[in-house]
Amino acid sequence: MNVKIISFTPNPEKTAAMAAKLTHSKIKPEDLDKKSEKELQSILREVMKLGHTSVVEHSCFSFAISDVSRSLTHQLVRHRIASYAQQSQRYVNLNDPNYVTPPKIAKDEQMKKAYDKTMKEIWDHYNKLLEMGIPAEDARYILPNATCTNIIVTMNARSLLNFFELRCCLHAQWEIRQLANKMLEEVKKVAPIIFKNAGPSCKSKGICPEHKKDCPLYPK
Ligand SMILES: Cc1cc2nc3c(=O)[nH]c(=O)nc-3n(C[C@H](O)[C@H](O)[C@H](O)COP(=O)(O)OP(=O)(O)OC[C@H]3O[C@@H](n4cnc5c(N)ncnc54)[C@H](O)[C@@H]3O)c2cc1C
Repeated sequence: MNVKIISFTPNPEKTAAMAAKLTHSKIKPEDLDKKSEKELQSILREVMKLGHTSVVEHSCFSFAISDVSRSLTHQLVRHRIASYAQQSQRYVNLNDPNYVTPPKIAKDEQMKKAYDKTMKEIWDHYNKLLEMGIPAEDARYILPNATCTNIIVTMNARSLLNFFELRCCLHAQWEIRQLANKMLEEVKKVAPIIFKNAGPSCKSKGICPEHKKDCPLYPK
């Protein structure tokens, strides 16, 4: 899995802080960037603490994500407050077997062998269908959920905070959790105040909506 921020709102934290300041100020919005960096950062810290996160919707982040499974992207695109572009299985021939192996299968030699064999058989059939003139858009029906895919996703910071609450949680599946943790690592580098407390609900809100008392992260 590769995850990289490819672009984001310039000055994402200043933009959000200006939006926050605007609501309680007589100053025209175009003049708000004259406020000191220190004051704007302090305003942003305060709104984040209060949970008034609508102002961080003004800051967006785009991620390039490659070599993840279709299982993962099916879960990812359920997050509606976002924009997506995904490699098409209609227009791209996926001739070579390229798939994700779940760690629980990878660590068992025999299981891994059977898994790889099944994948090889699937791809042999897929390529045979293409050779017989079946278009990729139909041949793909036999490809598995494990098939690797590439996707670009853009989310605003508020939607990302929601995404991290749901998908950094130990209750989320390992692959999307891995993705969410990598995305969080990336955004923290460019917007540390906004994402300071981001993560599963037990971290961001101190509550466990799943009521998983046996979870090692369950809030004390
Ligand atoms: C551990 C886990 C297990 C899951 N299991 C399943 C499952 O078995 N089956 C399944 O179908 N899904 C499942 N999901 C997906 C889940 O139900 C959500 O669809 C997904 O997490 C997206 O969350 P979201 O709606 O908060 O995000 P977004 O779609 O990004 O929405 C963000 C927020 O905007 C608001 N919002 C967005 N759209 C609307 C709307 N139309 N009306 C009102 N408010 C809106 C809501 O407040 C929402 O929380 C699972 C998710 C997790 C994390």
